[in-house]
Amino acid sequence: MDNGEFAYFEGRIVPTEDANINIMTHAFNYGTGVFEGIRAYWNDDNKQLNIFRLDEHIDRMMRSFRVLCIDPGLSFDEIREILVDVTRKNGFKDDVYIRPIGYKSSYELGPKVHGLDDEFAVYVIRLGDYVDISKGLGVTVSSWRRLRDNAIPVRCKINGSYVNSALAATEAKESGFDEAIFLCEDGTVSEGSAMNVFLVQDGNLVTPPCTADILVGITRNTVMQIAREKLGIETASRPVGRTELYTSDEVFFCGTGAQVAPVTQVDRRPVGDGNPGEVTLAIQKLYFDVAQGRIAEYRHWLTPVYES
Ligand code: PMP
Repeated sequence: MDNGEFAYFEGRIVPTEDANINIMTHAFNYGTGVFEGIRAYWNDDNKQLNIFRLDEHIDRMMRSFRVLCIDPGLSFDEIREILVDVTRKNGFKDDVYIRPIGYKSSYELGPKVHGLDDEFAVYVIRLGDYVDISKGLGVTVSSWRRLRDNAIPVRCKINGSYVNSALAATEAKESGFDEAIFLCEDGTVSEGSAMNVFLVQDGNLVTPPCTADILVGITRNTVMQIAREKLGIETASRPVGRTELYTSDEVFFCGTGAQVAPVTQVDRRPVGDGNPGEVTLAIQKLYFDVAQGRIAEYRHWLTPVYES
């Protein structure tokens, strides 16, 4: 991981080393912020850095702001401009990850979301693969349950809610697995610590629904759309039983960080024949072709950073 030199902080672009919050900041004490994770892929052929599905990420973030009563006083277009400007200013010629955060900035005691000041900040880092996307991951069903929508809504990508993910990821990794899969309180499958999960059954895709306490992933949406349009594969979004993780032909994760990552073992049981599956690999290839701009009809999902 390589930090970008510049960040957006308190209304302007500053050196990242100067973008520091005070210990009394509300969001630091109570997790009262909403963030996004956005990828931009470097295209060496035309020397361009393209942000993938920028508008969808801003849209999700602004909807989440409403839930936490965050209003940094910026319009959609202003946020868009800040994200492109700060990414450009960093000058990376590599794949990067952009992290905007809207947060409660008041120095005030007490858990609440109303009557507080809000700020907006962004940093950028160089980021290759967040998880192994070639060999296949070994995962475990977590002993930690997914947060419920009426406790801390996972759909909103709230900073504080990631303690739930952190506990599950650490438990899994310290037990020798690559990742965790959460179950909802009712015992059906939810998602990974920072990625959505898909199953392949008889050539079709199955994924937990938006009501399964998941972050409704933009990559999840991308996978569903490109699988339908380019591979003729439909996705059933329906409650998924735990044992379907063991009996499906293929399992994979997807997310901005995870990209499309095959899962080849669940709780030490091989998924299918224990190798990355055919459908998963076809979707993974298609995802990279789309996100890296090799398919013209999806190029409207890319926002170029550098002036040509
Ligand atoms: N679930 C969780 C909990 C996540 O943190 C992420 C990563 N943002 C995802 C799913 C995948 O979402 P997206 O495809 O929008 O990155």
